[in-house]
Amino acid sequence: MTRRRKWLLGVLGVLIAAGGAFLWTFTAAPLPKPPPYPGELPKASPPAEMRLKKLATGVTHRSAAFAYRGGSFFDKRDFSMTAVLVEHPKGDLLIDTGLGRDVAAQLKYMPWAFRVTTSYSLWQTAAAQLDEAGYDRKKLRAIVLTHAHWDHASGVADLAGTPVWLSPEEKTFVRDGGWLSAVARKANGDYRAIIFDGGSYLGFEQSFDVYGDGSVVIVPAPGHTPGSVIVFVALPDGKRYAFVGDLVWQREGIFEREERPWLQRTLGDSDPKTVRVMILNLASLAARFPEMVIAPAHDARGFVDIPPLLH
Ligand SMILES: [Zn+2]
Repeated sequence: MTRRRKWLLGVLGVLIAAGGAFLWTFTAAPLPKPPPYPGELPKASPPAEMRLKKLATGVTHRSAAFAYRGGSFFDKRDFSMTAVLVEHPKGDLLIDTGLGRDVAAQLKYMPWAFRVTTSYSLWQTAAAQLDEAGYDRKKLRAIVLTHAHWDHASGVADLAGTPVWLSPEEKTFVRDGGWLSAVARKANGDYRAIIFDGGSYLGFEQSFDVYGDGSVVIVPAPGHTPGSVIVFVALPDGKRYAFVGDLVWQREGIFEREERPWLQRTLGDSDPKTVRVMILNLASLAARFPEMVIAPAHDARGFVDIPPLLH
């Protein structure tokens, strides 16, 4: 064998090993199963008129392999871009906004590699759905962002004048987060930091009880972004929801404890180690309270029981 041939074979071997190692990062690797959460469900007394409505604004076209370790590249998943309206006599909330009117222009703030790997379908914006439903926007007390990434904040600009609540860390992230929070920053929303004055809640250290009746409780759950939150909702019929934002992208992230693959974790999460801790918190809640609906923002299966605002 000539030296040149040996060299080529060596390079080929290194490339195959690197490719194999990369593919391995997409294989299943469940986090260790935590014990069920030891406590009880916190008390809540939601008013009888309280309702949830969903506003599906569109999807991005992804795959299970993109979302979690062990997912297949052939398992196509349309990621939901859905806002949830909480109707409450003390003022309504909109949890995230989904895709907004300016989404095509907003994507231009993103790096080229992100744009070419992201395809979406915009159906109808949250603002347009509220208008079509004849909704009185004066009832909308605030938008609550689970975090400030583009596909959650895209519709903020369409709802100008509505306060936007986020955690203090996320407010800073909107300002300093570079392209990752460019859409939220350029929307110039009326961003207001939530004061978490409520002590521990379902294993999370801090909380904010929005109405003082336990019906909507927001907790910091950092990791995906520095100030991501989870919104816990208790309905008058006893049903409980945990809107977990992008802690995971699909339900397998919690129920199979499969975190995002290495590439997505590295590029998409501000602190993957803390994401892991939060996933295990949710997995322990899921084990203790199987009737609680855990709804990752981009998994339509978490929203099936919520009636749509329109139709
Ligand atoms: Zn996100």
